[in-house]
Amino acid sequence: MIDHRRLGRELDLFVSDPLAGAGLPIWLPAGAAARHAVEEYVRELERRSGHQHVYSPPLGKRELFELSGHLGYFADDMFPPMRLSADDEFVLRPALCPHHALVFRARGRSYRELPLRIAELGGMYRSERSGVLGGLSRVRAISLNDAHTFCAPEQVGAEVVEILGLIRAAHAALGVRPAGFRLSLRGPGEKYVGDDGQWARAEELLRDALAGVPYVEAPGEAAFYGPKIDIQIVDAAGRESTISTIQLDFDKPERFDLSYTDSDGGRRRPVMVHRSLVGSMERLFAYLIEVHQGAFPAWYAPVQLVLLPVDDEQAGAAAEQARRAVAAGLRVEVDVAGSLGARIRDAARRRVPYLGVLGSREAADGRLALRLRGGRALDPMPADAALALISRQVAARAVDLLPPD
Ligand SMILES: [Zn+2]
Repeated sequence: MIDHRRLGRELDLFVSDPLAGAGLPIWLPAGAAARHAVEEYVRELERRSGHQHVYSPPLGKRELFELSGHLGYFADDMFPPMRLSADDEFVLRPALCPHHALVFRARGRSYRELPLRIAELGGMYRSERSGVLGGLSRVRAISLNDAHTFCAPEQVGAEVVEILGLIRAAHAALGVRPAGFRLSLRGPGEKYVGDDGQWARAEELLRDALAGVPYVEAPGEAAFYGPKIDIQIVDAAGRESTISTIQLDFDKPERFDLSYTDSDGGRRRPVMVHRSLVGSMERLFAYLIEVHQGAFPAWYAPVQLVLLPVDDEQAGAAAEQARRAVAAGLRVEVDVAGSLGARIRDAARRRVPYLGVLGSREAADGRLALRLRGGRALDPMPADAALALISRQVAARAVDLLPPD
């Protein structure tokens, strides 16, 4: 069976060391290179769609999370507070929303700024029990692709539709194949904040945004502060989880007393839309490793091109081509150790998308013989043309290794 933990080990993507702690994996250079490419893509997508990025710390004073409601409603999922002195306690945050509410509150806001979209790829922590932890799919230290839109009540519907479009774009680029949409609603019990009117309004807005999209309803799966649209994936073992989410929140703007000046000069309360396009980097990669069986699209492959001089005579020419590939922005390695056949097999084992073979003829006239992952060999071509071909596929964030004919 495909298992991201086994592939993660084979491909040197990440390691889980018991000394570091369960649910606290370490990203190795190959995994970090792939993640970095994905993070850059997500930031660019967000920037182009009007998001502004911030940085905020992964821990904060106890009072911040009392105000947000997390300590009252979500404490079971949090690490216990750390006490520095009697009146100075800190908690590892279980969500980024409280800090982003403070970003909104950092100065007076006008209706002209809305919708205000605050984004961050930030750290947060959940005290998952050790029995449920495994590889990257369930972790205790989470790197979340997160954003909060502060908008006027009448802007919420359009914002949710816009976010659904961004989610579809991100899924297409990364190769995510959603298993279905879910409308997560309040269930019975006392674990929810806000009044019935707010919940009904939020639910109606989400139903409208989902018009024409098939979805299932899931009572009891809402956030403690509001209903949400969840986009589900299924892993290789058949387990379902949420990769993307859009949540409506009328409660936190009340708790943080958020307001903006409307066009008539009056003070109004914004609505907070929590959303994640691709979820946490950990769960996303657990999924991507399995769905691609380690063979990522070239744009986020850890190494995009391995150059193979047939023998030592071509080592200098290979090093020169590697310098040019690096200058062109590609992630490239030169492999000189062992027989050519063994080096080709090793690159195939590592799922490297492009191999460039240099024999004496290629080295002499500045050409490269490209081999694609999967074994297809192209006719030798000028090295510049080969690098341009790879660069184009990477820049287009194409799933295929060659442009369409
Ligand atoms: Zn949030």
